[in-house]
Formats: sequence, structure tokens, C-alpha cells
Amino acid sequence: MIESTDDAELNAQALADQLPGARTPLESEHEGDDKTEAGNYFVANYPPFSFWSPEHKPKVEEVLERPAPENTNLGVYFHIPFCRKRCHFCYFRVYTDKNAAEINAYIQAGLKEFEMFSKKPYLAGRKPQFVYFGGGTPSYLSVSQLQDLTNRMKDLFPWDETEEVAFEAEPGTLTEKKLEAIREIGVTRLSLGVEAFDDHLLEVNGRAHRSKEAYRAIDFAKTLGFEQLNIDLIAGMMDETEDNWKRCVDTAIEQQPDCVTIYQMEIPYNTTIYRQMKESGQVTAPVADWPTKRHWVSWAFDRFQEAGYTVNSAYTVVKDPDKVKFVYRDSLWSGADLLSAGVASFGEFGGVHYQNQADVGPYMMEVDAGRLPIFRAYPTNEEERFIREFILQLKLGQLDISGVREKYGIDPIKRYAKQLAYIENEGFLTVEGDVITLNREGLLQIDRLLHEFFLPHHRDARYT
Ligand code: SF4
Repeated sequence: MIESTDDAELNAQALADQLPGARTPLESEHEGDDKTEAGNYFVANYPPFSFWSPEHKPKVEEVLERPAPENTNLGVYFHIPFCRKRCHFCYFRVYTDKNAAEINAYIQAGLKEFEMFSKKPYLAGRKPQFVYFGGGTPSYLSVSQLQDLTNRMKDLFPWDETEEVAFEAEPGTLTEKKLEAIREIGVTRLSLGVEAFDDHLLEVNGRAHRSKEAYRAIDFAKTLGFEQLNIDLIAGMMDETEDNWKRCVDTAIEQQPDCVTIYQMEIPYNTTIYRQMKESGQVTAPVADWPTKRHWVSWAFDRFQEAGYTVNSAYTVVKDPDKVKFVYRDSLWSGADLLSAGVASFGEFGGVHYQNQADVGPYMMEVDAGRLPIFRAYPTNEEERFIREFILQLKLGQLDISGVREKYGIDPIKRYAKQLAYIENEGFLTVEGDVITLNREGLLQIDRLLHEFFLPHHRDARYT
């Protein structure tokens, strides 16, 4: 599934970024490297995953033995790694062959993991501000599996103070009965992985669903009154054309979702598309180049704005910015703790990042043995936390730096005077007083530009 700032997006990125060094972002641009080549583009966290390591696992345990912090929000994430079919562009660790008993066993393991966490002093008694179900395909679970999972999650970490419960769904897995159950368990933000409204495109790119199922899911969802309905779209899927993209955007507008998230297609290393490229000796991916994708997203943003939507990040438009919030994104980008459970999931406690075992076998074995299934971790220092929040918040397109300056005692405009001047000179942003504003061109390539703010020893890490 695809969703903005989704921790699931981190999963395969973590694998891909272990590959050897890369050029700095502006160098790449200056070399005229506009083609879509293999690699991850999206910057989902900082420092890069290739710096996380198993030797830092004890740091997670250290934090968990501390008393609970007083002023830090907590999010809870559960990763559901099952899908009906593997999309050709998918880089997540997903399983398409598990039966009901195996899925039940996985859910029980996840609950056991939550239970272990609930006994730790750092987490005991805390109530989540937000909850997120990502994958994979959370909607692949049956109604009874969903009810069992969420009832027990609520016993361990009650949802009575939770502002948002977000849930990713694949349209073809949703019956009316299942959507009702999803609403009843307390989901407030339903995110549909529509990706495109054209059946040929869906088929060529290996999606399991077709447009009819997307329309039906959107209609069902509207009747059930979710607080927010988001649909995901991808600009630049294989076989995409400008005319088709425009039709897709207009169709999305007709559907009137509260929020639309648009990704520019990237081809990470562990995708089917990359494997095919490698076999045939191709360097350039069979998708639109980066300037074309940016042009298409920019056209979409304009079209959504004409229809009354507001662009509120590099990836999202919302119908009513006063009403439609994305608590998961905004809290995580401001330093919330994230209790993340499930295979390959990513979390963070008190500035220590961690990732769970990336395969279901080792994950289940660790949990069965009564151990937290953490694979690797990274204890950030104050400077890295400052950089992380600064760069992630820049993805919103406009940032008043006074919040970050007050929190960390570092003024990003002074610290990054050279980098900001450089990017401003390239024509991508402006700085006025405390406010940094990306223009459209800058916003649509923000993930490339963010590397300018990395610490020098992190800049060669493979993100892209
Ligand atoms: S729905 Fe497709 S892209 Fe999403 S996790 Fe499953 S296989 Fe991957």
C-alpha cells in the first residue's frame, strides 16, 4: 500500500539504501540526470537507514526502562504485510500466500509484542494520540480478525484520547460489511490505494483491483461517514500518458475525497520492474522521466486548486485545510514517539529509532521467545533530531522555523545560510524573516533537495 509518510514506505527503502554511495542531489540535477533510474527517491526519515544497526538495539531497551515522558505524544502503528497480489512497483516486504491460520498467528504475535511494550515503564499507561494501520494491506484482514486485533490493542493502549485512527485499504478487499466494521472499530481516516482509475494501467502495473472496485469503495466509504477519506494516486505508472493522467485527476476530483495523496513513481531495487530492467540490461525505468512526473503533479495540483482544494504538502491536497488534518504525519514530523509493531515496522522512542525483523519467520520466533523483535536501531543525538524535524517539516512547503529554533536552540536559517542561499539561487525557495517557502518546482523535488541539509557523513548514504 502507498500512503504519505507511511512507515511501510520505509521498509524496502531500508533495504535499498544499503547499496553503495550516491551523488549529492544538486550534482545529479546538474548532470542532467532526469531519467527515472532505479533507487529510492522518497526521504522518509533521518539519519538514513544504512546508519541503523543491530549493535544499537540495547539503546531501545534503555529508553523503554525510563519513566514515561510528560510532554511527548505517542502514536501506535501496526504493520500488516499481506496483499492479494504483488504490484510490479512494490518494494515492501509483502506476503501473498498466507492462509487464515498463518494470518491469525501473525496477529497474535503482534498482540504479544504490544503486550510486551505495554509493560515497559516508558510506555505503561500512555494513551495514543494517533493510531495507524499500514502495510501491505490492512483491509486484507477479515472482519473478525480486525475486531480481535483492535479490541485487544485498545485494552493495552486505550483509544479514548486518540485523535486519529488511520487505516490503509485496497479497494478490491472492501465489502460493505468490512467497511462498516472498519468504521465501527473507530477508524477516522480511511486511505484508499486507488493509484489510477484506468483499468489498463492497473493491470499493466500489477494492481489487484480495478476501477469498478475503487468507485464502489469510495461510494461505500462516503455513506459511512469517515471523518476523512483519502485516495492515493501515482503519477508516472508504466504506460501512463499525459491525457490519461489528466483524466485520472479529473475523475479523482469528481469523486470529491477529503484528501488526495499523489506520489511520483519511483523504482526501488527490490521491485519486479527493477528485476526486469536488470535482466534486460536497461538502466532507465520504463516510466516517465522526473521532469514529466513533476509536470503532471503540478498540473494536478493546479487542477485540484481550481476545484477548491489546497496543496498542503509536497504530496497532498485537501478539500478543507481547517478540517482535514493528518495527525500521524504532523506529530511524527514534530518528534512524537511511535510504538511500531509488526514485521519490518519502524518506530521511535525518545529519539532512538528502531526497525523490527524484516521477515516474518525471525519476527515470529523472537516474539514467541518473549523478546522484542527489534532488528536494528539508531540513537539520534540532539543535532540529528533537529535536522530530522527541520527537513521533514520542509515537506509541508512552508515552514516557520521559530518552533524548531525554540525547541532546539538552533536557528536553521543561520545554520543553513549557505545551503538555503544556494537552493534559493537555483530558484526553488524563498526565505522571508522566519519563514521558508518552497515554490512549486521546489516542492515537487523536495526529497532531492533535502539532502543538502544532511550532515556531511550522511550525504553519501544511498537514499535515492
Ligand atoms: S498493495 Fe501493492 S504496493 Fe501496496 S503493499 Fe501490497 S503489493 Fe505493495
